[in-house]
Amino acid sequence: VAPVPGALLDGLDPDQRAAASVVEGQLLIVAGPGTGKTRTLTHRIAHLVIDHGVDPGSVLAITFTRRAAEEMRERLAALVDGDVNVATFHQFGLQVLREQHAVLGLAPDFAVADEPTRIAVLREILGDSSVRKALQDISRVKRMFAARLAASAAGELPIGDEIDGDLIGLVERYDKAMHSRDLVDFDDLLAMPVTLLSRQIDLVEHYRARYKWICVDEYQDVDELQYRLLQELTPPTGNLCAIGDPDQAIYSFRGADVGFFLRFQRDFPTARTVQLTRNYRSSPVIVAGAVAAVRPATLVPDRELQAMRPATDDRIGIHPAADEEAEAQFVVQTIEELLGGSSFHARDSGRVAGDGVQGGLSFDDIAVLYRTAAQARPVMEALSREGLPFQKRSHSPLAGHPGVQELVKHFVVAQDATPALLRRAAQQVPEEFADTVQDALELLQPLALRHSPESFLAELSLGAEVDTWDPRANRISLLTLHAAKGLEFPVVFIIGCADGLLPMQWAEEPDEERRLFFVGISRAQNHLYLSHAQRRGAPSPFLRSLDDSLVERLAGRTSRRSRQLRLL
Ligand code: ATP
Ligand code: MG
Repeated sequence: VAPVPGALLDGLDPDQRAAASVVEGQLLIVAGPGTGKTRTLTHRIAHLVIDHGVDPGSVLAITFTRRAAEEMRERLAALVDGDVNVATFHQFGLQVLREQHAVLGLAPDFAVADEPTRIAVLREILGDSSVRKALQDISRVKRMFAARLAASAAGELPIGDEIDGDLIGLVERYDKAMHSRDLVDFDDLLAMPVTLLSRQIDLVEHYRARYKWICVDEYQDVDELQYRLLQELTPPTGNLCAIGDPDQAIYSFRGADVGFFLRFQRDFPTARTVQLTRNYRSSPVIVAGAVAAVRPATLVPDRELQAMRPATDDRIGIHPAADEEAEAQFVVQTIEELLGGSSFHARDSGRVAGDGVQGGLSFDDIAVLYRTAAQARPVMEALSREGLPFQKRSHSPLAGHPGVQELVKHFVVAQDATPALLRRAAQQVPEEFADTVQDALELLQPLALRHSPESFLAELSLGAEVDTWDPRANRISLLTLHAAKGLEFPVVFIIGCADGLLPMQWAEEPDEERRLFFVGISRAQNHLYLSHAQRRGAPSPFLRSLDDSLVERLAGRTSRRSRQLRLL
């Protein structure tokens, strides 16, 4: 069906449409959670291609996670013919390195080293002494070098500490050792393109000519190298659209700097700024709770966030539990109540009536969020006991898994990275690896299903995680607050709302902890529950920001164990 001109903007509200219609020059879209930033970005690209005849190949869309890139790729594929380059910064960096390997003196089949490989390389240089610390130093120095080079190429005065001479020597030896093995590391994926572009104006022109439209989601969390890369790719009059929410900046511990967002207008004096103020995601009570929660730490003091969803009777449930086990029990019981009856009923039907707001609730409508991965355990145990299906998003690199490397070694890149081919590769692996390879097969199959061979191997070398979390699976999601970024669920539990956990006791940036709480709250569409274990100490001070009119204190339930004790 030929798309009707302009129809792509029909599903957008007036502000979103205004944002999507600014196709030339620089545009900053500043907007709170659930205001349709990601949706606007996607429609804007489709609008560019379909209504303005822009070549899809000249559009580069950068997302924060591989998962988000995949999703946007899928959505765009449904809207436009031809491939838009949708990538994370690291995926894009890898593309540049592949294209420019000769200029960089890299073998065409260079690989991206995982952590164990880097450690092995460094051990050969250092012996056993403090390899991990050295790895961090190397990473810091390499990133700093590239950033400084780019800064001075841009005519800025490079700032920062003097780098220790011994450390520079170490970096050089490490780089040489990596190079001789045809390896690059994760930092190189950004540092090398930035260095290359700072030095070679012809390459800058090449990439600027290719990508005339650049869009970046979650711009509040770019780090310096990512920022420098974007600066190189965008001429002063170029078309750059950055979207984000400074109040959702939660990655400073990884070097992200919300300052880049805040200085966009200074970097691009001709930039236009559009705000989106309507929240389509959450109930009015949840929107009010989110705004109140972040207010003491907000970076957008004049923010407006207007709830578009109709009011409901539900308030934000706050539950003080005795201990973590009782807290987990609270989560499970509440889930069972929401699903409308016993867990058996829920398990049999998968989708049961009971919510009333959006029709039936199913398992994939529910998420349990927490500050640190270790907190998931009691909830997992309680869910398992009741036979409720769940999936946990974990973050260990796939390539580091025993068996995976063995399998990949025998994996002949033929026509397709299909699961069948993987199985055939598994048959070639020596008998002695049988068990670990069997595990590896199961881990790799979802990745193989989603990617053809080249990107499959690229994903793997980019440190694809054992991310069995599948947004389409009908399971309850268990996620860290960080991993929940950009997602939404009808029902959200944030467990561990205790002082010392949220905010984290040793947090360097207390305001960032509050923003993390804000990110968590704003994932919820209809129902939000905040719980803590009294055994952990005082409730989170963040809870005090929520006005009484927004919350409902849920009576302490007895834990399964204490119930059993009473029965005895
Ligand atoms: P976050 O800051 O959490 O990443 P976001 O601003 O990117 O949020 P989206 O995820 O794009 O928000 O949209 C939030 C929800 O609102 C989605 O379910 C989306 O489909 C819906 N939505 C966005 N715009 C509209 C609209 N104009 N009309 C109806 N629903 C909308
Ligand atoms: Mg988004």
